Amino acid sequence: MRITEIKTFLMQAGSPTETAWSASGISSAGARNWLFVKVYTDAGVTGLGECSGWPRVAEAAVNDLAHVLIGQDPAHIERLWQHMHSALMGHGQSGVVGHGAMAGLDMALWDIKGKVLDTPVWNLLGGKVRGRIRAYSHASTVDNARSLVARGYTAIKTGGVADPLGKLADLRAALGDDIDLMVDLHGPPWLNAADAIALCREMEALHPLFVEEPVAPEALDALRRVRDATSVPLAAGERLAGLYGARTLITQGLVDIIQPDTGRAGGLTQLKKIAALAEAHFIDVAPHAGTLGPVAEFAAVHFLAAIPNALILERFEDDWAGKHAVLTHALECVDGHLTVPDRPGLGIDIDEAFIAQHPSTRNCRLPITDGGGAYAPGTESEAVYFQARRGRHHYLKRS
Ligand SMILES: [Mg+2]
Repeated sequence: MRITEIKTFLMQAGSPTETAWSASGISSAGARNWLFVKVYTDAGVTGLGECSGWPRVAEAAVNDLAHVLIGQDPAHIERLWQHMHSALMGHGQSGVVGHGAMAGLDMALWDIKGKVLDTPVWNLLGGKVRGRIRAYSHASTVDNARSLVARGYTAIKTGGVADPLGKLADLRAALGDDIDLMVDLHGPPWLNAADAIALCREMEALHPLFVEEPVAPEALDALRRVRDATSVPLAAGERLAGLYGARTLITQGLVDIIQPDTGRAGGLTQLKKIAALAEAHFIDVAPHAGTLGPVAEFAAVHFLAAIPNALILERFEDDWAGKHAVLTHALECVDGHLTVPDRPGLGIDIDEAFIAQHPSTRNCRLPITDGGGAYAPGTESEAVYFQARRGRHHYLKRS
């Protein structure tokens, strides 16, 4: 069998609702793109994948990498992954764009293998450790959280730059002790180690399942300080590419939970290795899914079904309705758990006509001139990632 062609399917994805994405107006509304890839073979079998890590740019990377794959036997996934990685030598080799492109192509190769062998991808990855995957969704208010709990969710993430401690305290008080809560601080550069430590210590009594990116992800020395000074479990890794990208966080024990993004960590081939490295360091895996589409979500479910240290999967429960129109099958979510599908390969196909009806128009956050709310001059939103420290007492104590 030989690979004959690779096609990309880029689309404008619509935005998660404000309640699902952010209650503070700091939103990526309208900026999400999803990039799907299809790998065709001379046997008539096709494989499907999804790329994240800046989808509009990743599309060009996929088209560049197509020359590496066309004419090759899709069975030899590891070899082809190494060929693709080597081909990126002249482009820096690391980074989420290149690994995003490889992620979708690698995913498609696993899909092909599953279809050829008439077995689900989870079976190729080692078989089922579990038949359903616990998921968490997002809430910034008690009402949002209660709505998710009413729909069966047992784990909810809150956070952001505005009063994360207050949100955690409110959710804990409203939902009780039986719901797992998480906080994502998004690692803004102005959140230094001293403040992150103070914040995490305030959160200790509320027992979050984890606190995510307590400092900037590049600030490994600061992360070490936080790690050594607080008892809350720490999570990070969504902005990292590949096994080598995740290596330091894992081997130096800087996190308790590693969060590779299914669409930009380099594909199932890399995810499986990251999980194994994490397992050897007693670290759990909770894949990031921030702007991902439904194909990558299916891949994440297959992946988490097959590894022992799967903690939980991020999921936008209140996502854009079009997410369910893109695919031929939807994931079944029962009591906050996703049922692992048993169809061959990833077990899905895309609706190409629906995707064509939603062409990509832009893939970055809205500027203020578009009325999106982000970066509004004079507001907290203007300087989410570069503001000088201010209001420290309010930030670090319950306001
Ligand atoms: Mg995050």
